[in-house]
Amino acid sequence: MTTEEDLDLVNVSDLNQYLYCPRRLYYLMFYNTQGLNYYLVDGRSKHANQSRRGGWYREMYLRSERLRLHGKIDLLESKTRLTPVERKHGDSYFDNDEVQLAAYCMLLEDYLDEPVRMGYLYLFGTNERYAIEITDWHREKVVETAEAIRRMSLERIPDFTDNAKKCEKCSTVQYCMPFETRMLEKDRAVRKVRA
Ligand code: SF4
Repeated sequence: MTTEEDLDLVNVSDLNQYLYCPRRLYYLMFYNTQGLNYYLVDGRSKHANQSRRGGWYREMYLRSERLRLHGKIDLLESKTRLTPVERKHGDSYFDNDEVQLAAYCMLLEDYLDEPVRMGYLYLFGTNERYAIEITDWHREKVVETAEAIRRMSLERIPDFTDNAKKCEKCSTVQYCMPFETRMLEKDRAVRKVRA
């Protein structure tokens, strides 16, 4: 059962969605665009389905009332110490991916009660992984973005992204309709949607 407390905890993957485009997260949160309740599905368990094989952990669920975050780390390297690995499609990564990884590192250090100063981003497109040092900038961005997400409400829809290329890849584009709005509300949307 999801409690009020659960709803106050921000899912780490939402940080990435918000930083990609706040409007996209709005649709994911309030419009049931994936045919399920985003929070009910992602917010329910802790340390469920955890398994360990040959220096790797899979699927570690963590939550922290102190950080007001929760999330599932899909993969952790455990050779010398536990290190989160966030896997991404494509051949490049962006600040939003780093911030998501940083939040997993923060959750893990809260759980272990010891510092977690780096994580890995693995890119399927290049078959390489990149060591990311978790800096104060990352930590502040996690906190600031989580606060912004908590302030979101059904009544306040965020504006379109400034980057039209994001819209071309966005799974909520049929709800958002940035291109149609550009045609219908020229004054409002042209500037916002143009790359
Ligand atoms: S279609 Fe574009 S403006 Fe709309 S939610 Fe997606 S990225 Fe944001």
